[in-house]
Amino acid sequence: MTLDTNNKLTLVPLGGVGERGKNMLLLETERDIIAIDCGCMIPEEELLGIDLVIPDITYLLENQDKVRGIILTHGHEGHIGALPYLLRQISVPIITTPMTAGIARANLKAAGVKNADLKSVNSGEQIALGDFKVELINVSHTLPGAAAVVVSTPCGKVVHTGDFHFDQTPPNGHFTDIHRLAELGREGVFLLLSDSTNAEVAGYSPSERETGTAIRNILKNATGRVIMVGYGASLYRLQQVINVATAFGRRTHISWQNGMDMLNLARQVGQLSFPSSALFDPKTNELPPNKQVIVVSGFDSLETTGATRYNSQQPTVPVQTGDTVVLVAPPGPGSEKTVARHIDNLFKAGAEVYPELTSWRHPFGHACREELKLMLNLVQPQFFVPIHGEYRQLVWHARIAQQVGMVPDNIIVIENGISVEFTPEKARLAGRITAGKVLVDGLGVGDVGNIVLRDRKQLSQDGIIIVVVTMDKEKGTVVAGPDIVSRGFVYVREAEELLEEAKEKVCQALDKCQSTRATEWSAIKSQVRNVLGKFLFERTRRRPMVLPIIMEI
Ligand SMILES: [Zn+2]
Repeated sequence: MTLDTNNKLTLVPLGGVGERGKNMLLLETERDIIAIDCGCMIPEEELLGIDLVIPDITYLLENQDKVRGIILTHGHEGHIGALPYLLRQISVPIITTPMTAGIARANLKAAGVKNADLKSVNSGEQIALGDFKVELINVSHTLPGAAAVVVSTPCGKVVHTGDFHFDQTPPNGHFTDIHRLAELGREGVFLLLSDSTNAEVAGYSPSERETGTAIRNILKNATGRVIMVGYGASLYRLQQVINVATAFGRRTHISWQNGMDMLNLARQVGQLSFPSSALFDPKTNELPPNKQVIVVSGFDSLETTGATRYNSQQPTVPVQTGDTVVLVAPPGPGSEKTVARHIDNLFKAGAEVYPELTSWRHPFGHACREELKLMLNLVQPQFFVPIHGEYRQLVWHARIAQQVGMVPDNIIVIENGISVEFTPEKARLAGRITAGKVLVDGLGVGDVGNIVLRDRKQLSQDGIIIVVVTMDKEKGTVVAGPDIVSRGFVYVREAEELLEEAKEKVCQALDKCQSTRATEWSAIKSQVRNVLGKFLFERTRRRPMVLPIIMEI
């Protein structure tokens, strides 16, 4: 082996560059590979019926004898959500902070993955993984136990920030470790990989503590029960709700099991603290309304007349006159309209509604431009690759790096599957490897592809027409039918005439088949599909899926 190959480092992005979520990056040397994060993504609307999107790990599987470990930066789904799928295929140690290990353990247990090899590492400790040495350092984010990852590689030190911001007044003293970052900068950092989520947003991100002030102002004025709708709420925010409620002589009920589990876990590992008496369970402990704060995970857990309920398994809280309802986080992109309808219903139910806790409209807990500059200036890397963001956010972040004085040639904007090869002096794009989206639907992983999605799209837009005909196989004549069944196309009772005509068209098509002696079922089906499809489009300008079924006797 030459000295040259010994000093090579390859960065292989499997997810999280050019998109938000499903974060997963590999660092590879001649002998070893480590992965940082293994996240999933909530599917976009056009992926109809898909539950989850996970990274394509073909490259990792092809090189699995080299894989030494997976390091997790923190416990958000975008960073750990694909672990169950990965661990069903390869067995590999997972290294992370005690809090994130707890979250991962609970998720893996819920997914039925046993015997995961989870190693908890405290910040400052070093752990050797083949050619690499790994250290975790504290960063502030919305979730306790978030860490940046420092990896010693043959080329030098690599700093991966994970999700972070610089919160100068974090609720529980979980600061981003500026001192260690500066120290690393002084020692020399080869490559920085940094969170680009808020690279478009000027200035500084607000401190998590500001939400505490907002909660206090609301509780000061509330005379009845206070209900917090905490969709996407951070654990730190839950802690602040509990703190403020206690200060106002109220007790808090966390109404969903997962929220309670996470809170208990954070308390166990010393990341959050509150006395047990701060909480109450309305089933066993009745309190007057002005002594209660109830936190629910989403609108599905609230009962108002006129609201549609989707998830009947969740326990619900009936909203009544005198209640104050607070939306703890801004609605996610695309859900604004639904949220507005829910607010309408809450007002109708007689509640006072605070539609937003703060005026901040961007993702919480991610560094904005000035903070990104600070990170670059502290770490002073030789090379910089922006990560965690959609393409434009990566470009913004690259420009920020130029503004603080980095050489443009040393800033590399990449997308999933484009690997970068480093030597101590140079970086070059090393070509494409297999990377992309694997779609999870129910128990199926990767079995839903473009054809299934195209069908789902057609069904969702124009519905389906099923034509059933019974035919004599020998003679090719119609014995019974055709019968037409439709779903999602027209309301049958008001379209009897149209469907009668459609039947007539099918009969004509079948007669034609008989006269041309077409006896192959596939030919007959395609004839029916074409004739009926054309007729229905002419009459309705809709293109339902036409599904002919021939029963032969
Ligand atoms: Zn996060």
